[in-house]
Amino acid sequence: QALQVAIDGPASAGKSTVAKLVAKRFGYIYVDTGAMYRAVTYWAMTHQVPLADDDAVAKMMGSLTISFKPGEPDQLVFANDEDITAAIRQPDVTNNVSTIAALPKVRALLTDHQRQIAAAGGVVMDGRDIGSTVLPKAEVKIFLVASAAERAKRRYAENITKGINTPLAQLQAEIELRDHKDSTRKVSPLTQAADAVLVDTTPMSIEEVVAAIAAIIKK
Ligand code: C5P
Repeated sequence: QALQVAIDGPASAGKSTVAKLVAKRFGYIYVDTGAMYRAVTYWAMTHQVPLADDDAVAKMMGSLTISFKPGEPDQLVFANDEDITAAIRQPDVTNNVSTIAALPKVRALLTDHQRQIAAAGGVVMDGRDIGSTVLPKAEVKIFLVASAAERAKRRYAENITKGINTPLAQLQAEIELRDHKDSTRKVSPLTQAADAVLVDTTPMSIEEVVAAIAAIIKK
């Protein structure tokens, strides 16, 4: 059994933490599609490519190879041979990524890449449009949510471990703005697929969320 598991949801709902643990439990590969959008954003920002210019960013992607290697707590992300794991989590990248994510040609290129990786199954992929657009035939679709206040709290705690000190209230405002942009863009906006199972993690521990998803996969 080599299933496709799609985990979507708003920013900082715990998707990557949970997706990684679920992948480990089933011996599946884990694919962080947000990291791909972040990598493209970082590359455009550092190569003077205008972020809202779909043609220019898509052209830039012709000479950008995004790849992953196992790592803790974050998977290692490479742009060509450069390790950009830490750079793509910096606040300036985070606050610009929704602009890149709204570009149709850029989305089409990344969606192709994601489908190729998932083609053989045995994959847990997290993002915003995996169940709705990237893998519409995924056997398991989860839509992970939590209150904005809870998500801000979790991201704040995670940021501290990375030396990022954005105040809690500002963090919550940034998260809500990013969700708004991701939900209202024209191409494959953040949305719960009709056949996705909603999991509200506000009162749950990571272990409880992983167990709940594992139970859905085993059904
Ligand atoms: O998951 P993460 O917060 O790292 O994603 C960063 C951004 O990438 C999101 O806010 C969204 O703009 C974009 N994204 C997307 N589609 C995906 C994954 C991420 O548009 N499948």
